[in-house]
Order: sequence, then structure tokens, then C-alpha cells
Amino acid sequence: MSLSDLTVSSDAPLIVKTTCAYCGVGCGVEARVSHSLVEIAGDPEHPANGGRLCSKGALLGDTLDLQHRLLRPMIRGRDANWSEALDLVAGEWSRIIGQHGPDATAFYVSGQMLTEDYYVANKLMKGFIGSGNIDTNSRLCMASSVVAHTRAFGSDTVPGCYEDLELADLIVVAGSNFSWCHPVLAQRLADARQRRSGLPKVVVIDPRRTETAETADLHLAIRSGTDVTLFSGLLQHLRRNDKIDHAYLEASTVGFGAAFEACLEQSIPAVSRVCGVTPEILAEFYTLFAQTEKTVTVFAQGIHQSSSGTDKISSIINVHLATGRIGKPGMGPFSLTGQINAMGGREVGGMATTLAAHMGFQNAGHREAVGEFWNSASIVGRPGLKAVELFEALDAGTVKAVWIMATNPVVSLPDADFARRALAKAELVVLSECFRNTDTVPHAHVLFPAAAWGEKNGTVTNSERCISRQRGFLPLPGDARPDWWIICEVAKRMGFSSAFDFAGPSAIFREHAQLSGFRNNGERDFNISGLADLNDQDYESLKPVRWPVLRGSMEGTDRMFADGRFFTPDGRARLIAVHPAGPANALSFEFPLILNTGRVRDQWHTMTRTGLAPRLLRHLSEPFVEMHLSDADRAGIAHEDLVSVETAYGRMIGRAIVSEGQKPGYLFVPFHWTDQFTKLGRVNSVVNPATDPLSGQPEFKHTPARVVPLNPACSGFLIARKEIEVGDAFYWARIPGNGSIRHEIADERPLEFWAKRVVEAMGIEKQDPAWLDYSDRGQKCYRGALIVEGRLEGCVFLAESRSSLPPRAWLESLFIKESLTVQERMGLLAGWPRS
Ligand code: SF4
Repeated sequence: MSLSDLTVSSDAPLIVKTTCAYCGVGCGVEARVSHSLVEIAGDPEHPANGGRLCSKGALLGDTLDLQHRLLRPMIRGRDANWSEALDLVAGEWSRIIGQHGPDATAFYVSGQMLTEDYYVANKLMKGFIGSGNIDTNSRLCMASSVVAHTRAFGSDTVPGCYEDLELADLIVVAGSNFSWCHPVLAQRLADARQRRSGLPKVVVIDPRRTETAETADLHLAIRSGTDVTLFSGLLQHLRRNDKIDHAYLEASTVGFGAAFEACLEQSIPAVSRVCGVTPEILAEFYTLFAQTEKTVTVFAQGIHQSSSGTDKISSIINVHLATGRIGKPGMGPFSLTGQINAMGGREVGGMATTLAAHMGFQNAGHREAVGEFWNSASIVGRPGLKAVELFEALDAGTVKAVWIMATNPVVSLPDADFARRALAKAELVVLSECFRNTDTVPHAHVLFPAAAWGEKNGTVTNSERCISRQRGFLPLPGDARPDWWIICEVAKRMGFSSAFDFAGPSAIFREHAQLSGFRNNGERDFNISGLADLNDQDYESLKPVRWPVLRGSMEGTDRMFADGRFFTPDGRARLIAVHPAGPANALSFEFPLILNTGRVRDQWHTMTRTGLAPRLLRHLSEPFVEMHLSDADRAGIAHEDLVSVETAYGRMIGRAIVSEGQKPGYLFVPFHWTDQFTKLGRVNSVVNPATDPLSGQPEFKHTPARVVPLNPACSGFLIARKEIEVGDAFYWARIPGNGSIRHEIADERPLEFWAKRVVEAMGIEKQDPAWLDYSDRGQKCYRGALIVEGRLEGCVFLAESRSSLPPRAWLESLFIKESLTVQERMGLLAGWPRS
């Protein structure tokens, strides 16, 4: 990116080591800062990536532009100064607590926040406001792992590290398209397979034939929601074939009798019938697992995001405990976190269901310890509302004030239009945001401008428990401030000055590390007291380290549970008796298809940052609905047709991708697109809000749906240097490019209407000599281009049939040029270069 509109401080280091902004792999990044440029490269010394980056990480530099940033506090749509905005929020928050009690307020935070920001938010809500109502968007991606880990291990511990994926002889990938969603891990695995002549073998369990499945040795395209049956069948197979490690079970676990009994019925034929895969493929998987000691089972949202996600994870942990394959190199269950700091949020207790430093509400001693440590008399004694419940409480009016930080819930929550309606009922909505144009911004009464990646300082923890520094390398623009500062300033104004008088993130980190070791005599997994005495300089130069980091040592811990001891009262892990349960909402005549949602390779969450990088939009630039050929044929849908996905909760529009990779009866739609990039493209507005009763994690992977073809009378696209208003078309997608913005449009009104409409929208006067156009009634198309002083300012291509429209790439490339050549002008309305 060009830094012409930014000022890099003259003493900025040439290379700043930091951590990526996005996914739970947590790659180390080197930001190479000069006075005119920021160049991004992988950090060769970081243990997570060893210099590798994926497309999103590599293009972080393209997202640093200030054009879309929120740079001033705002109150009800007008600019304000910090003291006015902070005073108002602190005063109103205190008033609402005074009138209705602390539980009438809530924080909804994010795995994009740094650990230090998370820590003070949790301390304020649970320690001083005295409510458990702080939950996080990480509830949507990994809450089931927290519960399943805790009930098996007595602690929320990911046992292994990334190196285990390279040391294993078999990787089972359950419910994860990690080639796209955790790409650097996929790169590490591919490199290991090349080095080790095809080992580890890879088995992918996923209803979709994803990019990850394409490269696997075996793909089990099981029916959605049948994972418990599959892994219970595996446990039964291991038992029948004498592959159980009885010595380990006896020494290190309890509960195996009940767990075995629960899977007695799961023979291979029975599992085959339920899961919808052949007995032969099942037998191949079970045999491979049984014979391969060094096995890692990687799982992610395909397992987590389910109304029985916790049981699914327990069924995976059961087979690892039953074989003693845990805590050793190349072995173990491995939950991948979605976001860069989902794990850090778990550490500080940034979830409504945990307290702080992996302490819980179920243990009275923990509450006492946290209260004493914080010197707080109002420490909360019970869990608060989980994400979906929190928005239900806003709708019901029992929660009256919400402070949303670094997340976009009207796009990301299930039944997202409900979330929108619920926010509209709140007395006070505060939003800490980096950007001024997210879908949630219009619902906020007060906007706090937050520091963005590249500006803020703190730590994050990745999926392998590795704590890394995120370091700022750009000055804070405008009035933007770090989240920790904003939270502490509100806390001070609410009368909690001494508890929130932090000089900076290093002081917060020290307190967080001290709390982890407070009254912790080895009975809690999360202990980083070895980092509690870091001075500011040590903190500044902190190298990545996997927790626990015990007092007296700066060494981290690669693997947990190597000694067969766990954090339960008796030190033994629990096998859990799990029983298959169907998805919360069954298919019906009206809604016969299963809607599954997820990520694409080059976008991150709600596109507030990755949507700023034109190169990332080249991969997939419009919301899409992937479906099998048989479903498309039945509905009369062709590849790239526009379709409407309808459920009991609403309707969204996307472009059909007809694919053999999609299982018949299933739809896949990415969740990234927002109202900023498309009309009716927010798939979460049609996703059911069912949740796992244990974890509160929503069932994003299974909503009964139908798909309906749309037959627009007019389709087309406009490319222009400036924004063109096309909002009343029934479909549009906005695709920023280099020096131009493309809008794809479709509508039921005819070509003639849109030909006139876009000419008006582009500000073209009648008989404007700069406007060249062409209309063909026979071919039913209209084309026009605006050329001013030799430079292309805009062009439009409309047709009754979308298939007659030209490709976009060459036309978009013309907007980079200061003037067109004669050949380019000649080819312009054809949409092709003339040779
Ligand atoms: Fe960033 Fe994840 Fe890509 Fe690594 S894999 S560069 S952490 S998005």
C-alpha cells in the first residue's frame, strides 16, 4: 500500500515482527516499513509458520488504507470528542445499572481483540460491574471445544502443537476445509508429506468434497450431523479388534465402561447406513486408524458448529483416550480455533461461561481467588448470557445496554436479521470499531474509533497455545485509540480508577500472567506466571512461547498430558458416553435441502479488511450458492444463474456454482458478504439460531432450506472510477478493483429501463460526446463507455442474457491506464482487445 496519507514515525524500526490479523494459525509476520511503503512477509523465525503466509496474510499491507476508517468518536451520527463520548457511555451505563441492575448490561466482544484488551473488558464486566454478561463472537466458532475439553480433561487444553501434524503418520481432518481456512497448516502438512514420501496419510471427513478432501488419501463424505455415530463406530471397532490401550485407560481415565456401552450398536453396517458411506470406505478408515499409532485428529467448525458439537468432540476425544494417543509427539485430538485470538479470549475468561485465567464458576474457590486478586467486592458468581441468548435478552428488553467490540453481529450471528431487530430495541448500543461502514455501525448510538492491526500492541494466542506479540508499526490515525485504553477510560469514569489504572498493554499482561499463577499449585492448566515479571523491554521483545510457562522459567510447553495426568480432581481424564443426536431442525417438504455455511480462501469474516484488497476479491467476487448438479437440474438452475436460498428465517441471493464436489441435497454458502458488498447476500440472515445446549454454539452447518432460480429480465455490470448508485436492482454485488469499482446487477425490469437508469446514475448528459454507446435490439444488449480526455471513466454492459456479457478482467485493467490506445478504444464496446 502507499503510505502517502499516513505518517510513519521517523524512529519506526525497519522490520517489525508481529502476528497476522486473521485466523487461529497465528502466523508470524514481518512488516517492513519505509517512509512510503509497508511490505509484508512471513516471519521465518515464528514457530507457527516458519516464514510461510497465505494469500490473506501476504496482502495485509493492502488493507491499511485510512479511507474507510472510523477516526473520530461519534454520538448519534455526529462527531464528538473523547471526553464527551466516554462520559456519556460511563454515565448511561451507570444509570442503567442503577435502575435495572448489572445484568441489564452486556459486552459482546471478539476473537479479533488482543489478550490485553480482552482482559480488561472481562475484568470490568465480571469483576466490577458484577455481571457475567460478557460473551464473544468466538462463541460462534469454538465454544463446543471449550466444554468438551473441560469435561474430558478438567481444563480447556489443546494437548498438542502444530509439529504433531508433521510427526504423525495419519491425520484425520474432521469438519475442516483447512486448505482454505487454515492455509498455512495445510502448507506445513503438504511439505511434510513431500518430505516423508506421502506420510502422514490424510483422511478427510466432510460432506463436501473440499479442496482439503481433494488432496486426501481417503474422503468420507458423511451425512451432515452424523459424526458422533462415525466416531462411536470407530471406538467400537477399536474395542472389537483389541486396539484399546487398557493400561492407559486404567491408569489415566475413568468413564470408559459407559462410553463403550454407548457405542455397542455401532457396527460398520449400522454406521454405514446412518453416515451414508459404504462399509468398505468405513472399514478402510477404521483399519487405518486402528493400525496407526501416531494419529492426530484435527477438527474445526464442521464439528464445532452443531447443536451436538460438544458430543461430537467428546466422541473424537474418546477414541484418542481409549488408544492412549494423546500428549505424545504426533498424536492427539486437535481443535483448530477460527480467529487469531480466540484462544486468548478463553485464557482471560472472555466468555460468559468462564471466570478468568481458566477458572470457572462451578468452583467457589475460583470466584474467591479472582475476587481477592482483583480486590473486588462485586465479583460475579454465576455465568452470563451466551451470544445468542444475549441478543434474545436485548430483544426481550432484559438487557438494555450492549457494548460491541471488534465484531459485526448483524452479519455474523445466526438469524442475523433478528440480531438487527434486537439491537434496535436497546437503550444504548456502543460500538468500538475500526471502520465507519460496517453493517452494525448504523445501529450504534455511540461509536468509539478503535486502533487497527498495525497500530495496536499486545499479545494473541493461536491454536497451539502459542502466545505471540502483535506489534504496532504505524501511528494511531486521527482519534483512534487501543481497545484497552477505551475500556479503562470508561471504567475509571464509572468509579473503578485504581483497578484500571494501567500504563499500557505490558502492565495488563503482567497482571494477567500474575492471575494465572495466583493460588495455582498445579491444579490449573493455564499458568503463565513465568511471564509475570517481564519488564516493558522484555515484553516488547517477547518471543512466541507456548503456555504453560511456569514461574522460574521462560520455557514454554509443547505438549500437555504427556504424563497421563489431567486437571480433574482425581487427575484422570473422562471418557464421555455420547449418543447420536440429529440436527435441531429436520428437513421438510417445504425445505428439503441442507444449508451449510463457511469460509472461502481469500476472505476473512465480514470483509471489513479483506474486502479492501482487490486482489483478494479476484478469487471469488460475488456471494455464491454451491450445489450438486442433480439439485440444480431439478430446480432448473444453470451454473452462474442467480438463485434465492430460502429458509424459515428469510431469504438470501447468490450466484449458483454447480459442482460435483457438493453432496446431493446440500447447499454451501460463504458467510462473508455483507450489505456493503451485495444486496441480500448475508447468508446468516437465513441460518437457524439453534444452539448446542451445553456450549451455546450455533448450528451454522445445518439449516433446512430450498433453492429457487431467479430469472432477471436484465443482467449486466458497470465499472466506474466512482461509486454508482444501483441499490434498487433486486441484486447487486459491489467489487472494488484497482482504480475502479465494478457492480454486477440483475433486475426484473427490462434492459431499456436499466440502459436509461445507469446512464443517469453515471451523470451522462444527453448527446454527451464523451459517452459512446451501442444498442442491439437483435442481440438484446446495451453497451456504453465514458471516455474523458482519453481516459476511461466508466463503462456499462447490459443484456437480457448474462451469457452474452464479456469477461470483466480486460475492461477493469483499462482503468489503471491514464489514456487508452486506439486499439483499446476500438475494442472497448466489444469488451475485447482488438489486435
Ligand atoms: Fe494469517 Fe491464518 Fe493465513 Fe497464517 S494462515 S497468514 S494466520 S490468515
